[in-house]
Amino acid sequence: MSDYQETLYEGYGQRFRMDRLLHEVRTGHQHLVIFENARMGRVMALDGVIQTTEADEFIYHEMLTHVPILAHGAARRVLIVGGGDGGILREVCRHRSVERITMVEIDATVVEMCKEFLPEHSRGAFEDPRLNLVIDDGMRFVATTEDRFDVIISDSTDPIGPGEVLFSENFYQACRRCLNDGGILVTQNGTPFMQLGEVQTTAQRMNGLFADWHFYQAAVPTYIGGAMTFAWGACDAASRRLPPDILRQRFVGSGIVARYYNPEIHQGAFALPQYVLQAIGKPGNN
Ligand code: SAM
Repeated sequence: MSDYQETLYEGYGQRFRMDRLLHEVRTGHQHLVIFENARMGRVMALDGVIQTTEADEFIYHEMLTHVPILAHGAARRVLIVGGGDGGILREVCRHRSVERITMVEIDATVVEMCKEFLPEHSRGAFEDPRLNLVIDDGMRFVATTEDRFDVIISDSTDPIGPGEVLFSENFYQACRRCLNDGGILVTQNGTPFMQLGEVQTTAQRMNGLFADWHFYQAAVPTYIGGAMTFAWGACDAASRRLPPDILRQRFVGSGIVARYYNPEIHQGAFALPQYVLQAIGKPGNN
């Protein structure tokens, strides 16, 4: 048995015992590894960075999906950028009110290998008739599509390699162009304790582009470094300030049984710590 050492940070990182190596391949875009670990279940890494594990994926996928869709309240058209493991797609499909889901993933091999070796992530969602799966670069798609969306979810790799462009000003501007009135963009944005520069850059690039921008957080154990941030860009500033009973009504109305998400967690997640507020130049969480 050998170990898998994550290589995201110099001099600090997490190590997994690889109890069973299930698949390893250099795709047209990335180096993909899927292995089994007794504590975390099946684990996928791309280019030396842990992408997802069976044990804690529910936290990330529920928060990046239910927060924007329930905040919107009438999302019919959803765009997923990245998300090749199918976890975000699974959670979006749980919203009966969503009529059409477009998913733009750059690497077809990630989708194929995750269907085969991480079936619990998608749980058949790739067969959902509402899905339009597009294998393409997410930046090119949002820059050229005529389609418009109510919610855009960017579940990308880190801003290195193919994922770098998904943190660019052009990407956020193009997403803004693709949003309907009242639309919401959310993106994975790293762990501020380890990647504060990433949060600052996104704040600068979202500032002035949306009626309201902010970040929300959740701690995902295998995204090391403490809480993970999710960037939030909304065309309607009221979307982040919904009364708790409205959120609860929408959540109960959705019929979704969640393992992490609830309306209180939703509201509390937007409360950022001082060092993050200072870094993004905000006096408070309002
Ligand atoms: N949750 C993980 C995280 O936070 O690190 C991300 C998981 S998901 C597997 C990331 C996906 O983004 C991968 O399947 C990768 O192929 C895809 N991706 C990276 N760059 C992309 C691009 N420019 N356009 C579309 N998909 C991209």
